[in-house]
Amino acid sequence: MDSRTRIEALQQLMDEVSKCRKCNLWRSRRNPVLGDGSVEASIVFIGEAPGYWEDIKGKPFVGSAGKLLDEILRENLILRDEIYITNVLKCRPPENRDPRPEEIAACSDYLERQLDLIRPKIIVTLGRHSTAYIFSRAGIPFKSIGDVQGRIYEVKFWETKTYVVPSYHPAAALYNAKLRDEIGNAIRLVGRMRGELGI
Ligand code: SF4
Repeated sequence: MDSRTRIEALQQLMDEVSKCRKCNLWRSRRNPVLGDGSVEASIVFIGEAPGYWEDIKGKPFVGSAGKLLDEILRENLILRDEIYITNVLKCRPPENRDPRPEEIAACSDYLERQLDLIRPKIIVTLGRHSTAYIFSRAGIPFKSIGDVQGRIYEVKFWETKTYVVPSYHPAAALYNAKLRDEIGNAIRLVGRMRGELGI
């Protein structure tokens, strides 16, 4: 699929998400947040859900957690416009509460369609919700993010070898230097894989 077709398909998804009422989160959201970045990306980052600033601006990872993520990406020579970034949920849960299983179930079709359009070689899951979702899709048991973060999991998506790298969510690392280091290690791994895979 060429770039233009993918961009049009993502635009179509954005139109659907803007009108979506499949779960109750549409009632409190200001703006839905589909995703941002390159449709040609080999690396897709998946977070949990939009937060306060994301809800206001309609873009993913633009608040403090996003700034921290940008900083760690820059340290590893990964530019935001080389990757694609999205969340499991496209609308902000009130007070940034955890996503509910029924909301993830209602919203997952959008994420699936995004992934299917981009078909990345590497998926970086940020936090336990996106990790649990992608692990379940790959048939890998998941207990806690602490057990799996910073490791590489080889899976088969779209009949192709795909790598999943779970990481802590940057929001958890805002006031925790140890977690920031752990995220740095996971992203360093992604940078190294990118070189090895030539992507
Ligand atoms: S969170 Fe997803 S399913 Fe729920 S209203 Fe928003 S776009 Fe629709």
